[in-house]
Amino acid sequence: MDKKIINIAIDGPAGAGKSTIAKMVSARLGCIYVDTGALYRAAALYITENSIADEDIAVELANADISLRFVDGAQCVYIGDRDVSGLIRTPEISMAASRTSAIPAVREYLFETQQRIARENSVIMDGRDIGTVVLPNADVKIFLTASAEKRAERRYKEMLAQKDCPTFSEVLADIIKRDEQDMNRETAPLRQAEDAVLVDTSDLTLDESADEIIRIIREKTE
Ligand code: C5P
Repeated sequence: MDKKIINIAIDGPAGAGKSTIAKMVSARLGCIYVDTGALYRAAALYITENSIADEDIAVELANADISLRFVDGAQCVYIGDRDVSGLIRTPEISMAASRTSAIPAVREYLFETQQRIARENSVIMDGRDIGTVVLPNADVKIFLTASAEKRAERRYKEMLAQKDCPTFSEVLADIIKRDEQDMNRETAPLRQAEDAVLVDTSDLTLDESADEIIRIIREKTE
């Protein structure tokens, strides 16, 4: 008999720890971790590199050939045959992705890619609208959040090793601006699905957050 496919949606604002925690949980449960933010970042990179005007995005993105490949469970994002997994992780692309992801043509283009991956695999998929739009019938939905200060503090610590590390107030301002853009856009705004379980990681370690999510998943699926 085929193994049952399980879909777990984790949504929440930037810096809540979604990707780190979802990776830990997926390794423990043996399913694929899908970071949908990487798709939006790749779309933003493509739009930026090719200087595509907003009104041309629908037509131009159709040729972008953005895809995810999984190597030993780790996700890489491609534009055609070019691995852009590293290039999409700059503050400029973070901000560009937050802006371009509000454009309906971008969301429509990436919608089918995300649904197909979840149809074919047991996944933990993280993003902003996974529980509300992409996988409304997900087996488990989690809304992962933390205070803006805590999220900025974590981002800042990660960035300290970088050459041109911004100040803490710049990181905090960036987080607040992205929250505002993500929550107030017209198409698929960031919000908690009615049937999602809220997990606030402000005062939890990564291990405690992962344990809590595994507990919720077991409770809902066993
Ligand atoms: O999660 P990450 O910070 O990498 O996402 C980059 C941007 O892509 C976010 O600020 C958000 O605007 C957008 N995004 C989205 N829907 C998703 C995932 C990401 O709009 N499912």
